[in-house]
Amino acid sequence: MHFDIVTIFPGFFASPLEYGILRRAIATGQVQVQAHDLRAFTTDRHRTVDDRPFGGGEGMVLKPEPIFRAVESLGVTPKAERDTTRESVILLSAQGRPFTQQVAQRLATLQRIVILCGRYEGVDERVNEALCDQELSIGDYVLSGGELAAAVLIDATVRLLPGALGNPDSARFESFGAADRGQAEDAEAGVPRTTHGSGGLLDYPHYTRPAEFAGLAIPEPLHGGNHDEIRRWRRRMSLQKTMRNRPDLLATAQLTAEDLRTLAELRREQDRPVHDADA
Ligand code: SAM
Repeated sequence: MHFDIVTIFPGFFASPLEYGILRRAIATGQVQVQAHDLRAFTTDRHRTVDDRPFGGGEGMVLKPEPIFRAVESLGVTPKAERDTTRESVILLSAQGRPFTQQVAQRLATLQRIVILCGRYEGVDERVNEALCDQELSIGDYVLSGGELAAAVLIDATVRLLPGALGNPDSARFESFGAADRGQAEDAEAGVPRTTHGSGGLLDYPHYTRPAEFAGLAIPEPLHGGNHDEIRRWRRRMSLQKTMRNRPDLLATAQLTAEDLRTLAELRREQDRPVHDADA
């Protein structure tokens, strides 16, 4: 898989690519990442990449010409003929569609991704219209540039490539894991076989040694070797965390009858007045 990043700060990417899974994927040749200096595609003495916005208003806007030249230099297929199941040109923008785990999963199937990083007030919209097949946002906040967003997108995508993680199941069973098609069928006695945070739920809490630390003990079910009990506890914790932190995910998560019963129980616990809970 090949990433091309168009940016005014190519040096920004040196460090994020040097650690962990990304470093390994690059070292083994599974992934190539090239950052291209947008200023190299300017034609004036000052290497100008921005200009004032038409219609007035604050700030500066990245000019279209250097970006068009940069993308052309990469030999990307023109938008109208592009096979977006193989390559994609992505504009990073706070106005874009949300970059989610599902989007990362789709990106992980591509061979080539070109990422355009905005700065200042953003990028001349003709870049989006004529060159990009996707406009993506990494969250509902405004960054000062697309570079951090590009690093996020690359990291989340690369770790989903086959073999990038030591254990392939890690990506399957973590937060937001794709709804496991087999999960419902795999359910045994109402407990899904994959009881991790897959199926669109958040992951369950993790603990490691020591079992007791600073007066804080690990939860009781993790002490013993009762795998069924551990599976049920983990699923319950996943449901509880999702209910508390991301209730919106419950609407699309794959839930078994047992999950629905657990959720009803958790809601009753949550609604119970404090003095009842204390009693
Ligand atoms: N005027 C823009 C707006 O209000 O939507 C904000 C521009 S922002 C200061 C500059 C650049 O940072 C954007 O062009 C984009 O490339 C990047 N950026 C900012 N927030 C982002 C987000 N949430 N996701 C992805 N990229 C973002």
